[in-house]
Amino acid sequence: MSLSLEEIKRYSRQLVLPDFGSREQNRLKKAKVAVTGAGGLGCPISTYLTLAGVGRIDIIDMDKLDLTNLNRQFLYSVEDIGKPKAELAAKRLSEINPEIEINGITEMITYDNAFDLLKGYDAVVDGTDNFPVRYAVNDACAVNRVPLFHGAVLMYEGRAMSIIPKETACFRCVFPEAPPAGTVPTCREAGVIGAMTGMVGAIQALEAIRYLAGKEIALKNTLLVINADTMDFDKIKVTRKEDCTACGEKFIAKPVVYVCEDEGN
Ligand SMILES: [Zn+2]
Repeated sequence: MSLSLEEIKRYSRQLVLPDFGSREQNRLKKAKVAVTGAGGLGCPISTYLTLAGVGRIDIIDMDKLDLTNLNRQFLYSVEDIGKPKAELAAKRLSEINPEIEINGITEMITYDNAFDLLKGYDAVVDGTDNFPVRYAVNDACAVNRVPLFHGAVLMYEGRAMSIIPKETACFRCVFPEAPPAGTVPTCREAGVIGAMTGMVGAIQALEAIRYLAGKEIALKNTLLVINADTMDFDKIKVTRKEDCTACGEKFIAKPVVYVCEDEGN
């Protein structure tokens, strides 16, 4: 696979990076990535993957656009309200980079379908906003051995972690059980500013891009915790657990059953 003149020009500002050339660009071009969620995190994640030239991006989200999404979800317009976000995002991003394939999949991710839905990707970048889906995505990626780029935002706290299955700690190694229903507020209850989801989503996308390009990544076995009140970025070392029910010796299905009524992080 070689790059066209159009592609060389489009990606020229990244191709001049000292550690990034046509080999790395071609690795991105061959990559197939799923983005779970087309919301506050999903918008920056899918945008930066698109701009960088990831060859195929599948955006999975079941929600329709609501006016309350527009303080942070920058891929949409007022006239899109009521339309499915996955398809809107795919259409908008295809206009930005027609060199790549972008698909919008309007489907709800559940513990039952995640394992099939997230099979065969080179990476999954998680922009989901609730624990049942987050654990479903983690467990599916662990079983399917698909690298997972986790991110989450709650008020002025952001988190990110990069997971290489069977090699580094997964989300469940660090947090074996979801918090009890109702103990962690949703973004509808707690509030969120778009710049927060933008920052965390950009970090997830950068980690995924570097990984797909064959570069070292910083957030393996590391939970990045961002406190935007103080702008402290703390890196917490985490370790893989051999007895983890998701990525350990023996997989045990552990769906998180409570329902979150949030409308998209
Ligand atoms: Zn694990």
